[in-house]
Amino acid sequence: MQIQQIRNSTLRLSIAGKLILTDPILLPRHGIEFFAGIEKNPIVDLPFPAADMIKDIDLVIISHLHQNHFDNGAKKMLPKNIPMFCQPGDENAIKENGFSDVTPIEHQLEWENIQITRTPGRHAGNEKWEAILGKVSGFIFKVDNEPIVYWAGDTVLYDEIKNIITTVKPDIILTHSCGAMLQDSGPIVMDAEQTIAVCKLAPEAKVIATHIDALDHGTVSREALRIHAQKNGISSDQLLIPDDGQILNF
Ligand SMILES: [Zn+2]
Ligand SMILES: [Zn+2]
Repeated sequence: MQIQQIRNSTLRLSIAGKLILTDPILLPRHGIEFFAGIEKNPIVDLPFPAADMIKDIDLVIISHLHQNHFDNGAKKMLPKNIPMFCQPGDENAIKENGFSDVTPIEHQLEWENIQITRTPGRHAGNEKWEAILGKVSGFIFKVDNEPIVYWAGDTVLYDEIKNIITTVKPDIILTHSCGAMLQDSGPIVMDAEQTIAVCKLAPEAKVIATHIDALDHGTVSREALRIHAQKNGISSDQLLIPDDGQILNF
């Protein structure tokens, strides 16, 4: 199994001989709007040409439809017949861009010997911002004889996520860890503290921090997260913070 960090939560996940692209955003740096009024997003370029990012892709999974998870570049460049999975409610908006093979995952499905389970998320730690930011999902990927991967998505850490971690016991947990904030929202994804809490909750798991150093409303950098981890006794062996373009093998 291989996971390549691309940018934000765009990842290339190689599993069971298939290549899955998550949350595709393919526009160049500054291709989408400001979130915090600091700089247009994303604040960094893709590590490789966009055409290379989508080469050989078998499936696309979109956690939710925010612009920094599915952008106009992806809408334009991805093959219209590529299989796409999403959360229920997002399928029509995706199809409106000409995509013909869009399947919402209500709970769980089997695709090419990979069991994919949708998980819930909360896109803020309070009801006001949760309502503004809308429904989000994560996904668990399970294949015989391969590590179980839990991609938590744009969620803060709360009881249901803790419950998934302790009951499913994923070997690999992908967290969105930039501590993004909007006005008085508080963190709308995990911050350093919550990411460390995930590490402590699952000491046997590898935690991969993604969705970091890509957006103007992020409050936690890779460097700050690493320092916070060291202070809390979390090793660089357990908490992986890949750079854009970096490949992790499991
Ligand atoms: Zn979002
Ligand atoms: Zn996000």
